[in-house]
Amino acid sequence: QKFVYDFTEGNKDLKDLLGGKGANLAEMTNLGLPVPPGFTITTEACKVYLDSGSEPTALRDEVSAHLEALEKRMGKKLGQADDPLLVSVRSGAKFSMPGMMDTVLNIGLSDASVAGLAAQAGDERFAWDSYRRLIQMFGKTVLGVDGELFEEALDEAKRAKGVTTDVELDAADLKRLVEDFKATVAKETGRDFPQEPREQMDLAIRAVFDSWNGDRAKLYRRQERIPGDLGTAVNICSMVFGNLGPDSGTGVAFTRDPASGHQGVYGDYLQNAQGEDVVAGIRNTVPLADLERIDKASYAQLMQIMETLETHYKDLCDIEFTIERGKLWMLQTRVGKRTAGAAFRIATQLVDQGLIDEAEALQRVTGAQLAQLMFPRFDEKAKTDLLGRGIAASPGAAVGKAVFDSYTAVKWSRSGEKVILIRRETNPDDLDGMIASEGILTSRGGKTSHAAVVARGMGKTCVCGAEELEVDTKRRRMTANGPDGKQSIVIEEGEVVSIDGSTGKVYRGEVPVVPSPVVEYFEGRADGAAEDADELVKAVHRVMTYADGGRRLQVRANADNAEDAARARRFGAQGIGLCRTEHMFLGERREMVERLILADHEDERDEALKALLPLQKSDFVELFEAMDGLPVTVRLLDPPLHEFLPDITDLSVRVALAEARHEPHENELRLLQAVHKLHEQNPMLGLRGVRLGLVIPGLFAMQVRAIAEAAAERRNAGGDPHAEIMIPLVGTVQELEIVREEAERVIAEVERATGTDLGLTLGTMIELPRAALTAGQIAEAAEFFSFGTNDLTQTVWGFSRDDVEASFFTAYLEKGIFGVSPFETIDRDGVGSLVRAAAEAGRATRPDLKLGVCGEHGGDPDSVHFFHEVGLDYVSCSPFRIPVARLEAGRAAA
Ligand code: ADP
Ligand code: MG
Ligand code: MG
Repeated sequence: QKFVYDFTEGNKDLKDLLGGKGANLAEMTNLGLPVPPGFTITTEACKVYLDSGSEPTALRDEVSAHLEALEKRMGKKLGQADDPLLVSVRSGAKFSMPGMMDTVLNIGLSDASVAGLAAQAGDERFAWDSYRRLIQMFGKTVLGVDGELFEEALDEAKRAKGVTTDVELDAADLKRLVEDFKATVAKETGRDFPQEPREQMDLAIRAVFDSWNGDRAKLYRRQERIPGDLGTAVNICSMVFGNLGPDSGTGVAFTRDPASGHQGVYGDYLQNAQGEDVVAGIRNTVPLADLERIDKASYAQLMQIMETLETHYKDLCDIEFTIERGKLWMLQTRVGKRTAGAAFRIATQLVDQGLIDEAEALQRVTGAQLAQLMFPRFDEKAKTDLLGRGIAASPGAAVGKAVFDSYTAVKWSRSGEKVILIRRETNPDDLDGMIASEGILTSRGGKTSHAAVVARGMGKTCVCGAEELEVDTKRRRMTANGPDGKQSIVIEEGEVVSIDGSTGKVYRGEVPVVPSPVVEYFEGRADGAAEDADELVKAVHRVMTYADGGRRLQVRANADNAEDAARARRFGAQGIGLCRTEHMFLGERREMVERLILADHEDERDEALKALLPLQKSDFVELFEAMDGLPVTVRLLDPPLHEFLPDITDLSVRVALAEARHEPHENELRLLQAVHKLHEQNPMLGLRGVRLGLVIPGLFAMQVRAIAEAAAERRNAGGDPHAEIMIPLVGTVQELEIVREEAERVIAEVERATGTDLGLTLGTMIELPRAALTAGQIAEAAEFFSFGTNDLTQTVWGFSRDDVEASFFTAYLEKGIFGVSPFETIDRDGVGSLVRAAAEAGRATRPDLKLGVCGEHGGDPDSVHFFHEVGLDYVSCSPFRIPVARLEAGRAAA
């Protein structure tokens, strides 16, 4: 087994073995680009080290051989006193990961070689600057010394000299600093800074290996579901120096604008600086375009290289480079991150350039990016007053009056005010306030904090962890430092603020909100194919066309009224996968349902049902009309009956009051008794779904009749209705058989009476583990299955969805038990394996069984891919998620 690869030996496809950085360094080397020579220690070596606690025996010799070759090539030895070869030791896993060890530059410098470096470069200041950087980085990341100690000493040196930047320190200052740093290392670690170059290198390599199992890296991997046993590679790269004076420097660049996708010159450059200085913001960088003025030849070469990289990677790349005395060196490249809008634009631009095909273009965008583009946004042209920024935790643009407690949030929103709830951090007690607010802002906590998790669950805008804002709940105010970081701005309760959940920015006052052009396009108010269409809309239109052209999964909508159905159709729905009939029992019809529930006698009950029938029927007529020609799955009544009755406390108060006033309260009393009778400890597992149909005579028959009569009416009016009747919460085939017999009888009656052939189909939800486990039997009585993955997730995990998100999910996410709520993305291993097995068993019984899914998961990108894989026919989701589902279904098939 080979543990070390020279940069000339690898390539970009070897990311598993060489890590992302190593694989791309090799790729650039092979493209003939100017990469400082070096080699990569494989992830395999790291794995051996992590498993056994020591480096593989062969590693030392292999490293020695590669180092020797490198030394020969460079004509100097590592740390050689009169002319030292210096190297960087850089971590580089397959996925870039926060918490991994930082890079150590200038390895090989020592008390002995610092003078040699100075002599070779003819620059004493440079040599001491490099040495102090080495001790600082090595001390912090390899030896574990608190980095603050070095920072403070550096600040002190600048203060003592009365200067503000590190370039103003001269050789003597830096020399003193080195002594200082060495003393700090000795004091903090009980040993001297290692002077032996090879020892420096070996210690740094080992520190990179060890950092794989650092707490932060481990947590990140659990959350992102990155396997814990991949290991990291280590890159040893000969140093080039951007800190050799004004004709040297270092920079970062993008091959095109990561915000718009436009081609051009994007990046930052810093003269006389090393590595991290650019991003660390210690001095002001200049725009990359200025490099043309500073060093024309290097600039021209860089532009050339960027073009080479783009054509080669067929994508936007970001790069790190250094110029050493007028000579350009490439230090890193990778396919670069971009904004959601740019992703769509770049994908179509690359198709136009002939670099990628349509299937590949689909892989360059995601449903999450599309969803982001569908949120309303703050008007970019508006003048804004930035207060600070936090973590973009849940997207959207929210404006409202600042409130600092949930009670006020609820009170104000009841009186019609829009509010933003501002807290240091939220807890389950804040739930009501969060619901009442337009958006949530916290000054503490990250992407998995309570505020973030709950807000995302509710689809509410949230900015969290805005640490520069000081929230004072007691005095109902928040203090910001303002854009210059000095002047303090106080926001009192009631003052309007605007928060941007897509960027994390927080503004004072009202920022105007503009609707998303992408939504206008889906709504049909903008034509993506039109010549003058917005560039973004055009790109989205094209990508959607690719997706629709290739996908196998159909996309339906969850909708229960004609208006939603019509919108869903505009968004591209191919039918309704879930029409919940319970919504048809609310409002003024609630009284009729009360009568049904209260009925003592058969007659009373029939009366109540008879009154409901025409209302249900007219709802269905409208719906079938809106979805003419497309399937509409109607679910019979599902929720527990008590949901249609008044609240028990309210009712008790009403009864008590009437009693005290000696007023008649016959009805209230009966209602109260009924409420008591229907009260359940665990209503979600109680009398609901098919169970209602089986114990309340005539209920399901009435609903089936309403559906059948509505379909007949549409048919006779020349329409083309395709109704599918769905029975919820079935656990066993016997339940379904009983309901089915009754339904078939009713349908036959209606068909006879109306002289129609309705072609209605009957099917069931699969949302209980028992139903999934006996799907083969259930398919005997069902023409279709619709997986109700919300209930299935609840019952498989034993989680009460309404409770867990606010109580312990935060803890679960923080501990990395799962990276995302199983209510958001289907749990493939658990819930998913039941879905897969039930689909197979169902189709074994009935090969033409139609399969769909109607839980929230139907609009979740990851889950859509899963449903494609297990061979479902369609997913159904809320109208707004339809474009996302279409896109992901296309991506899954591409
Ligand atoms: P990160 O993964 O944090 O980007 P890198 O390994 O890329 O870490 O290194 C950090 C910084 O040091 C980068 O700016 C990089 O360009 C610079 N750097 C790394 N190796 C060298 C080298 N051999 N010569 C000069 N600069 C280097
Ligand atoms: Mg880098
Ligand atoms: Mg359900």
